[in-house]
Amino acid sequence: MKNLVDLRSDTVTSPSKGMLECVLEAKTGDDVYGEDPTVNQLESYVASLTKKEKALFVTSGTQGNLTAILAHCQRGDEYIAGSEAHTYKYEAGGAAVLGSVQPQPIPFNSRGEIPLDLAELALKPDNNHFARTRLLCLENTNVGKVLSLAYLSETKEFAFKNELKVHLDGARAFNAAAKLDVPISEITKYADTCSLCLSKGLGAPMGSVLVGDSETIDRARRWRKMLGGGMRQAGLMAAAGMYALENNLDSLKQDQLNAASFASGIRELQTLGLEEEPQTNMVIIKIDDHKLVTLKEFLKKNNVLISSRRFVFHRDISTDSCTRLIDLMRVFDESY
Ligand SMILES: *Cc1c(COP(=O)(O)O)cnc(C)c1O
Repeated sequence: MKNLVDLRSDTVTSPSKGMLECVLEAKTGDDVYGEDPTVNQLESYVASLTKKEKALFVTSGTQGNLTAILAHCQRGDEYIAGSEAHTYKYEAGGAAVLGSVQPQPIPFNSRGEIPLDLAELALKPDNNHFARTRLLCLENTNVGKVLSLAYLSETKEFAFKNELKVHLDGARAFNAAAKLDVPISEITKYADTCSLCLSKGLGAPMGSVLVGDSETIDRARRWRKMLGGGMRQAGLMAAAGMYALENNLDSLKQDQLNAASFASGIRELQTLGLEEEPQTNMVIIKIDDHKLVTLKEFLKKNNVLISSRRFVFHRDISTDSCTRLIDLMRVFDESY
């Protein structure tokens, strides 16, 4: 049986041998007492990488975003987010349910940005009819699309002018940094807080890190405890995260190369095409719903998993697998 190629997401990676060895050697303590040296090491490392005062190791990206929204907003406040954003659509309504914070969704434009003219129209006047607009949440990358530094800079100015804070859902911000070839701090400098996933392209089994100024992160730490995210000997998982940051950043570039070569393969097909040019590790193909069902079955028979039109490349997909995948897509395209 050929190796399984799982393109459903970049969350499906398995920890490498090197990472597991690092986990076995990790020094631990009780992190709820602030005594886990490996968690402390990870938090100070990520704070320094992102040039923020403090960092907080959280269980997931969702917990990072939620603790950030709750740290920025009070009951009756409002945050602006994309109508297809993770922070609005894919977090089970956490900010509304647990924080009584109202979301104000705005459609992303084709670049994955929240158009600032629309954000301006959505700002509520200071009047007791309205929720208080306090926070703007961005997403980078947004389904593989990279926000430009120019847009991030405009957003920062817009937020400052309107007394908003900016939270960046940077689940894949390292993919954006790899694409732009800039240090992650060049992206995080435009946001007050940023959550970064260790468990996506970076290949750690779990965990995200939230970064920001000390006061905000201290509030987020309290929320994390309330949400059940106070972990004890979490250094085992922080060690995997440290390993990922020290060893796996370069593989994000390889994922982008694999995605690009897959996209060139698709461009040459007769019936299938690309929805748009890939920017990072995701390729979205153009295919109708009915044909997608057939494609999914065909690929599954050949040990390849997809869940939608979106093919997500990651460190467990080798260049050879990528070549085999292009061959399979050609066979499907010619036979359909
Ligand atoms: C994956 C993801 C998250 C966090 O997801 P978790 O599964 O909770 O770690 C947040 N935002 C975006 C854009 C994501 O893709």
